[in-house]
Amino acid sequence: MFDADNIRSGYGEITVLKDISFSVNNEIFAVLGANGSGKTTLLKTLARLLPLQSGKLELQGNDVSTAAPYQMPAAGVAYVPQEGNVFADLSVMENLSIGGRTGNKSKSEKLDEVFALFPRLKERLSQSAGSLSGGEGQMLAVGRALMQEPSVLLLDEPSAGLSPLFVDTLFSSIAETRRERGVAIVLAEQNAVKTLEIADRVMVLSLGEMHLLRKRSELSMSDITEAYHI
Ligand code: ATP
Repeated sequence: MFDADNIRSGYGEITVLKDISFSVNNEIFAVLGANGSGKTTLLKTLARLLPLQSGKLELQGNDVSTAAPYQMPAAGVAYVPQEGNVFADLSVMENLSIGGRTGNKSKSEKLDEVFALFPRLKERLSQSAGSLSGGEGQMLAVGRALMQEPSVLLLDEPSAGLSPLFVDTLFSSIAETRRERGVAIVLAEQNAVKTLEIADRVMVLSLGEMHLLRKRSELSMSDITEAYHI
């Protein structure tokens, strides 16, 4: 999937991510870190919304260091930002239809897959996305991204603002997406406890640097909390 070699990125003159190297395999690759550690910046960089200041980024062996954001969906990358991830004035069905223009499967096949994962969306097809609850809105955002038939899904803090029950439902759907559909997932999160339940590997960022990158099985909560105190 992604191979990042010493990537440096940020906003204009400001550098946030400082020379980070990692690979994302066919796995749930979690990105944890305190507020402002650079999780969103990393996802935006992978989605090519931020230019690289230096380093190299490859996607499935192809150099995408200078790729434009609009090229990424066709290259198999779906990005779900933390906010503004659905079209509020459009219905649930319209949102899903917009997501379904790439890939090989028929729209109805893709819709069936999304409804199997998120049955609640099927009950609200004509409702406007802006009137959904926070949890339903996140389900729609993930569902819309899956309509792209991605090989990599970039999720920025999908649990933000959700009640524990919704977080459980959403995270089991994320794990199922990985398991049943073989989609690689980069999951940026604040909720370390829930994330450790489903992640294969965990990267912890601290002030834009990689504090650690380890298999979940080799990681304890104290390894993570240490990074939050720097
Ligand atoms: P959170 O958990 O609070 O969402 P984060 O780990 O996702 O935080 P980022 O949003 O990536 O962190 O922010 C990393 C750093 O980049 C912060 O210091 C932030 O102030 C800075 N930053 C973010 N957006 C911009 C911007 N548009 N211009 C300048 N600096 C920015």
